[in-house]
Amino acid sequence: MRWPQKPTITVEDVLKACTPWLAKQGWDVALNGRLPELVGQQRRYRAAGETGELFTLLASEFGGQCNDEDKDRLTAAYDRALVGGGGRKLYDALKAAAIYGCTICGVAKPETIDHHAPKAVFPLLALTPLNLVPACGPCNQGKSNSFSTDPAKQPFHPYFDDLGTDRWLFADVRRADGGVVAEFSVRPPADWPEVKAQRLTHHFTSNKLAPMFTFEASRRLAARRRKDMRSHERTGPEGLRDALMEDADSFAAVDPNDWETAWLYALADCDWYINGGMKDI
Ligand SMILES: [Zn+2]
Repeated sequence: MRWPQKPTITVEDVLKACTPWLAKQGWDVALNGRLPELVGQQRRYRAAGETGELFTLLASEFGGQCNDEDKDRLTAAYDRALVGGGGRKLYDALKAAAIYGCTICGVAKPETIDHHAPKAVFPLLALTPLNLVPACGPCNQGKSNSFSTDPAKQPFHPYFDDLGTDRWLFADVRRADGGVVAEFSVRPPADWPEVKAQRLTHHFTSNKLAPMFTFEASRRLAARRRKDMRSHERTGPEGLRDALMEDADSFAAVDPNDWETAWLYALADCDWYINGGMKDI
């Protein structure tokens, strides 16, 4: 996964941009009075994220913010002023930073923003940019709005988690009825802590990434089949394997765990395909 840098936009910037809308509701004085607290929340969030203790922090506050007197105002400010009002420029800037796509699947364009710590549970983080994560619509809709207290189910945070440069996403290409299918799986590196490995598996299964990658691979194969057939005719199986490995290495140089990296290595490793199987598809 390639993730965007931490945003430089702050909760102060967001509240300022939302203030004209808040003033129309008569909420500007009350919410601006909460600013020091929101800044404190932002500071603790960053510090905990940078030391790998964000889950511990959120778990310790879990339930404590649900009944905040300004919960409805803060969530309405997010929906009406940041997403749909004067703060839209900031919202769009947060999305635009995700140049490698959705921070959950890495496939689709990030059209929305997801609250890493759900705003229904953590309203004091509803306007905190460090808690606002670009995601595509389906990934955002599929993600739970509740907060799991199980450490193995904590979602990855693109601004703070590091998934390293070792390969952990793999594919297997095999013949199927009337064509070919690519099946994807994750194998966490052996030196990862157990919880991190569990989180990777949870990330992969709960976001239903395997069928999404399989679908993308089917579409991409339709586009590259002719090219590979020509390579096979010109240079034979080994030449085709070299060409696929070359492409796989190029993708891996950008992201060793992009679905396309895993798929191209799997194609290069598939004897049936390398020996001209694409002619039968
Ligand atoms: Zn997505």
